[in-house]
Amino acid sequence: MSAPTPDETPADPSADGTPAYRLPTSVRPHAYRLVLTPDLDRATFSGDVEIDITVERPVTSITLNAAELEITSAELNDGNPDGGYALAPTTIGLDPHEERVELTFAGTIDPGPATLHLSFTGILNDKLHGFYRSTFTDDDGHEHVIATTQMESTDARRAFPCWDEPELKATFEVTLVVDEALAAFSNGSVVDEAPEAGGKRRVHFSTTMAMSTYLVAFVVGPLEATEPVDVSGVPLRVVHTPGKSHLAPFALTVGAHALRFFTEYFGIPYPADKLDLVAIPDFAFGAMENLGCVTFRESALLVDPAQAARVELERVADVVCHEIAHMWFGDLVTMKWWNGIWLNEAFATFMEVLAVDAFRPEWQRWVSFGVEREAALAVDGLHATRPVEFHVGRPEEAQGMFDVLTYQKGGSVLRMLEQFLGPDVFREGINDYLTTHSHQNTETADLWSALERSSGRPVGRVMDTWILQGGYPLVRVGDDGGLSQVPFSYSGEPGGAIGSDWQVPVLSRSLDAPAEEPRPLLLEGSAPAAAPAGAGHLINAGGSGYYRVAYPTATVRHLASRLGDLAPLERYNLVSDTWAAALAGQAPVADLVGLARSLADSGEGDPSVWSVVLGAVGLFDRVIPEEDRPALEGAVRHLFGPLAADLGFDPRDDDGERTPSLRSSVLRTLGTIGADPGIRAEAGRRFGAADTTALHPDTESAVLDIVASTGGEAEYQAFLARYRAPATPQEENRYLYALASFSDPGLAVRTFDLALSEVRSQNAPFVLQLLVANRTNGPAAWQRITDHWDDIVGRFPSNILPRMLDGVRSLCGSKALADQVAEFVLSHPLPAGGKTVEQILERLAVNVAFGERERHGLAGTLTAALGATPGH
Ligand SMILES: [Zn+2]
Repeated sequence: MSAPTPDETPADPSADGTPAYRLPTSVRPHAYRLVLTPDLDRATFSGDVEIDITVERPVTSITLNAAELEITSAELNDGNPDGGYALAPTTIGLDPHEERVELTFAGTIDPGPATLHLSFTGILNDKLHGFYRSTFTDDDGHEHVIATTQMESTDARRAFPCWDEPELKATFEVTLVVDEALAAFSNGSVVDEAPEAGGKRRVHFSTTMAMSTYLVAFVVGPLEATEPVDVSGVPLRVVHTPGKSHLAPFALTVGAHALRFFTEYFGIPYPADKLDLVAIPDFAFGAMENLGCVTFRESALLVDPAQAARVELERVADVVCHEIAHMWFGDLVTMKWWNGIWLNEAFATFMEVLAVDAFRPEWQRWVSFGVEREAALAVDGLHATRPVEFHVGRPEEAQGMFDVLTYQKGGSVLRMLEQFLGPDVFREGINDYLTTHSHQNTETADLWSALERSSGRPVGRVMDTWILQGGYPLVRVGDDGGLSQVPFSYSGEPGGAIGSDWQVPVLSRSLDAPAEEPRPLLLEGSAPAAAPAGAGHLINAGGSGYYRVAYPTATVRHLASRLGDLAPLERYNLVSDTWAAALAGQAPVADLVGLARSLADSGEGDPSVWSVVLGAVGLFDRVIPEEDRPALEGAVRHLFGPLAADLGFDPRDDDGERTPSLRSSVLRTLGTIGADPGIRAEAGRRFGAADTTALHPDTESAVLDIVASTGGEAEYQAFLARYRAPATPQEENRYLYALASFSDPGLAVRTFDLALSEVRSQNAPFVLQLLVANRTNGPAAWQRITDHWDDIVGRFPSNILPRMLDGVRSLCGSKALADQVAEFVLSHPLPAGGKTVEQILERLAVNVAFGERERHGLAGTLTAALGATPGH
């Protein structure tokens, strides 16, 4: 993102009142006819584009976007075949900094329709943006090249000259001239193909609806497509590198579900004439919602359900549903400017979960969404948070908007609103919004207006308090049952971008009347609100509220004794709110540990609920003094040992749908932090076993982490071999990321070197993140990163680099080290770092403060609350 800093304030507006970072509004595009000829071997391309435009006012020059392109010819016609004009510009001025080209003409061009013809050449870059190269090696060891695109946010200008702003929608008629042997894909379906000289083929695609430039796509390479599946008249295919068609059926099933689900939910037909889901070996994001031609990283699309962990399968379902939701929300109706990107992404996140929940209700996707909401709450309780809708001036600042606050907080507040208004009223408002604004651009207020029409409630007034300011409230329940709110802050003090006085849609219910509907109440501003009192009264009923709750001690004890009367998401919130209070120093750690004891006693079986406790244990592991480590190990074994014994390593017939995820996380924690000798021995046996069924996909990653924690050269070599020859993209990830889990310092160095050489740049920053998060090797890995900083920053896509830094949150065992980290990071700003980097450093500081406050009492707290004896 980069929050605007004083020296980056927008330059003076231009004469017509638009900010200097916006293109002049004197000319508007309507239709692009684009012919591109990529040369995959030379990593270049040439192109011709005809753009139908309207000249709105008399002008002497025309300005549009272009970057890393050479314009070889330009001509403007008025489109009148009977004696119209044909003007060549006197100068073609490229401005690399502003990424623009200005065509200046000798005379004045009168208002009216015209057509601009441009010829150009460009490069297929290796930066995973614009028109770029991706490579893969076949089974015979031959390398092949794919030319593919990633235009969002502002990289269409690297592929062809264009008015590269989301509001300047136009139709696109694409023609690709490619080698005869290569396949070609774009947004539209193939209209006709014809041979060209020189062993080439001319592939002409159907014209798209009017859409933004960031949604244009073309993919050329030795790729295969599955037979199309007819989904109510829409042909759906998966496109992949050769030999992977067996990994496509699950994505086709999910894709067909999503197409039908959204067509029905939105009440509007799918807005393109086909849908290709394209797996690209090198891809910076998870996926990209190009109209009719969605691109994915392979692990987010290609999967074998029989060889995948449940979470890996859910990931594919999530991403496919997310992108297909965008076909309507984003592609058909689009934000006016990049500050509105939150609406695109928050809504797609919300719809993704809704669609996956309908696809497999037994997955309880709204419960696991609690973990994602918590990820947003964890950042949004920092002074360095930001409002969801955030000023974006220069378009490159949009890059920093693709974060947890846009997606997870945005999706969470929409879910809160949907639950408060009621799903039918919410859906009616969405239908209204999409129908009213089809093929147009909107601002956030347009959505609130539609929801106000459907609900008759002041949606805009409520939602502005969640979208236009950072942070969220802690809803306090008084001894008399009354409710009040204060801003929640991990530092204990409000400040920074944390706001105040939210309009909190509170749902509450009595545990003693489970059949009653939850009661809605709008907690407004700082005035306390009366609520039905009683120890058995639960606030945030259903668990979809984006806020935390603080109960009187007696109520917490009462709720802990009635965990079975709470829904999984309600239990999740009780535990995560308790942990957040402890992390913020507002409640004793013993509260969390006591609640963990109650969860164990009540036979808690939900992996999301337990994930909060496991996360807390992970932080204990980082801050506890070495001499107290046996106490932590003993506590972990005491708390999780019986659960692990019950779950075992193998799937069982009576497993719940979510049991495999719980099994995996409990075994991992016991075998690593708990140093459980029995678990370690069994993990080692299974890893070494010749019998391939000894490693089940759901627990494989946990077993690898356990093996790595004590493993050596032989295990490392075995991991490396599997990473290099994986059966599926998920297996590749499992073995790659486990290479960062070895405790042996020498092996950590090897993994570091691998990340800077062999590992694809789409994955390498995540390997570095995990190396830094490794308890024994993290400090040394961080040192190596600083030693190789320039190489790393130059090598990897700028939008993933801030994720690499996420690992430093774990370097919280020593304040001196944390200070060094902060000093280095602040003096070496990342191009797309912005708020994300500030947030990571503040989280590091929160963890350090927790350690300094709690370190010496932890062993005693654990032993007292769990009744565990150190070392047992
Ligand atoms: Zn999205």
